Amino acid sequence: MSSKSPPAPPDAASRRAARPTIVYPAGAMPGPDMAVLDSARQTMVKIRDVVVPPRDARAFHVTRGQFFRIVSIDGPQVGDLNLWNAHDLSERFFSGKTRALHATHVSAGDRLWSTMPHLRPMATISHDTLGWYGWDADGAGIHDVIGTRCDPYTKLRLGGAAYDFCCHSNLSRALGAELKVEPGAVEHHVHDVLNVFMCTGFTRDTHQYFMKASPVRPGDFLEFFAEIDLLGALSACPGGDCSATHSSDVAACYPLLIEIFEPDRTTLDSWTWPSPSRYHRRHGGMPG
Ligand SMILES: [Zn+2]
Repeated sequence: MSSKSPPAPPDAASRRAARPTIVYPAGAMPGPDMAVLDSARQTMVKIRDVVVPPRDARAFHVTRGQFFRIVSIDGPQVGDLNLWNAHDLSERFFSGKTRALHATHVSAGDRLWSTMPHLRPMATISHDTLGWYGWDADGAGIHDVIGTRCDPYTKLRLGGAAYDFCCHSNLSRALGAELKVEPGAVEHHVHDVLNVFMCTGFTRDTHQYFMKASPVRPGDFLEFFAEIDLLGALSACPGGDCSATHSSDVAACYPLLIEIFEPDRTTLDSWTWPSPSRYHRRHGGMPG
């Protein structure tokens, strides 16, 4: 904030004393039946896996009703996740609304919501081995939906050199390879990510976005239940554990593993699948 702030009005203290109201209180919306997911998890069998090389990304498909895990292997590594409706790329993960509905960081029981006009759960987080971390003394948490993704455009604006292996470029290459087109032709589909395993927060004094070394260790995983047919892409961030830097070849960087599981479908008989939005989409009509 500028040091040239205007003088506070006489009633500044009382204006600041207004009580906070949670915008979307927990329980305002029916939550996922985690008991159903827990029973389905007991039956699931791994059917496929995909290794994401360091400073690169890979696309993957998950069918509605399957589970998928993002697994740390070899060393602490942050992953940047994009999700699309496998049949319509215009429906994609909506980081901002997910943040508003849940919190700045997500964990088991939270859902990844899609963009309007759909606004429905694309995936539900079914297990998080880092769920113990909670909020640390710096106010940081794990798996944030506040960062966007490292990208070459910001790096250049900040005076850096062009770098081709930021998460934005990695995700563009992976999606381009999946769709068999040049990365530049599909980069507009790449969107704000779920920062898997990333440890972040806002500084208390200036409210600036900060990162610190991820506590993830090999064997840790974040697991999702696919609510719709998904196309995903995961980038192994060039920042590695994001303890110090990103957008360069400096940080130690490790691969990530994506594992896909098929459960016994009868365990999902009582699951409530996401329904289409009931909004009529007239938006108040044409301007008069
Ligand atoms: Zn990144």
